[in-house]
Amino acid sequence: MKNTQQNILIIGAGLCGSLLALRLGQRGYKVNLIEMRPDLRKTDISAGRSINLALSDRGIKAMNLVGIQDKIEPLCIPMNGRLLHDVEGNTTLAPYSGREHEYINSISRGMLNALLLDEAEKHDNVNIYFNRKCESVDFENTTARFTEFDTKKEFIEDADIIIATDGAGSAMRQSYYLGHKFLFSFSQDYLSHGYKELSILPGENGSYKTYKNALHIWGREAFMLIALPNLDGSFTVTLFLSYDEGEYNFNNLTTEERVLEFFTKYFKDALDLMPNLIDDFFTNPTAPLGTVKCSPWHYKGNTLLMGDAAHAIVPFYGQGMNASFEDVVEFDKVLDEGHDNWETIFKVYENSRKQDTDAIADLAIDNFHEMKGHVNHPNFREKRDLEMAFEKTFPNDYSSKYSLVTFNEEVSYRDAMLRGRAQDKAILNMLADGVITKTKDLSTEELLVTLEKVKVETDIVLEDDKIAGLHK
Ligand code: FAD
Repeated sequence: MKNTQQNILIIGAGLCGSLLALRLGQRGYKVNLIEMRPDLRKTDISAGRSINLALSDRGIKAMNLVGIQDKIEPLCIPMNGRLLHDVEGNTTLAPYSGREHEYINSISRGMLNALLLDEAEKHDNVNIYFNRKCESVDFENTTARFTEFDTKKEFIEDADIIIATDGAGSAMRQSYYLGHKFLFSFSQDYLSHGYKELSILPGENGSYKTYKNALHIWGREAFMLIALPNLDGSFTVTLFLSYDEGEYNFNNLTTEERVLEFFTKYFKDALDLMPNLIDDFFTNPTAPLGTVKCSPWHYKGNTLLMGDAAHAIVPFYGQGMNASFEDVVEFDKVLDEGHDNWETIFKVYENSRKQDTDAIADLAIDNFHEMKGHVNHPNFREKRDLEMAFEKTFPNDYSSKYSLVTFNEEVSYRDAMLRGRAQDKAILNMLADGVITKTKDLSTEELLVTLEKVKVETDIVLEDDKIAGLHK
């Protein structure tokens, strides 16, 4: 769409909306970005869900697109692998990849969001407004109704197109749903687990009380604790636990004694680093985790959903933000194709993008189970060891499912899912059948033979899955 005199209204200045405003601003469009919360650069508010996030290659590609990769780097703490903590407090570092240059990054949501807002604001054609909540969108007339926070006054904002990046509880998605003007499919699936954020405070002089360059995981089958490092020496710790199932759950952890009993039994080494646990536990909210899928994302050439508003996912692949950033990259590609109307642009974008966001939604659920328990299973560990050895010894010939999703931004989420799942199935079957032996017993030549066997078996699984209709 070459006519940059068009007015674009973006609802929600979170991670996706700020990046989108920046990119469309760079392309010369007139952008109004409207956010319901106060400006997080001026007010001491939590930046929203999760204090820090794992940023990986798909997200970094988006940062490159808008030319701010060098500003992002100082905000990042590399995490080279998962540091697995068992119940006795023993730890094992499980690298994310056999290739040393492949790692994920812990980054502060607030700092990242602030940087994106700063960069977007540098463009005269981008205006950002805070404290204005979108109540509904009239997608037929391309207008949105807002309430001003201080005065409670309502106003209507019109635009040539409206893009809603207002997160998992999107007001525009709600308008689609309630509007009954077109067939709108919508599903919201909650996990039985919720999450609560806790913290490990910095040590003396901002030192880290535990290993800095890893994503820590205390996987306990029915629940788990994870921790990501922050620049000030602290860690943000997240407890994922059922609301009402099992001996310990959010609903019955109601006294200090019970919380301490739970942590002493399952997370003793973490508890030793968290003298502030009780305060955090009873101050911080417990929040649900869900997957949102919907379609269509757009209405004619008037409105479009993007980011979590279109496809909220559970956080276990560390990809929600990365996927939302990739949305902007993919949308930008469609703009480059030179279509002359928004309806075609929205259609082309949604047609190619939806299958990928559906795939990462499903992969994120898989990873929930993997992180809680499978990581501790001997066959899972043997599979990972083998994949690490493949990646290290034959770096150009193999990528695990995790690597395909996290470090191969040129491979779509859907292709990563299909190939990654087939590889997992192939290796686990071959290990179970004794067709391949333990990694530590293999010479380089034998490892190469094993890799070839895995490739052949993977192709067979892919073909079988296709015939079984699993590639729909
Ligand atoms: P949001 O970040 O939710 O932004 C939406 C914005 O819209 C907000 O600023 C909000 O205030 C505003 N808004 C909402 N409603 C309105 C309204 N009516 N009017 C105006 N403004 C409105 N992703 C990763 O990639 N890596 C991770 O490690 C990771 N960890 C996570 C951990 C947890 C516990 C959770 C819950 C999520 C995690 N995610 C992670 C996912 C990530 O947080 C989201 O995918 C990402 O924030 C989506 O960005 P967004 O801009 O679409 O939505």
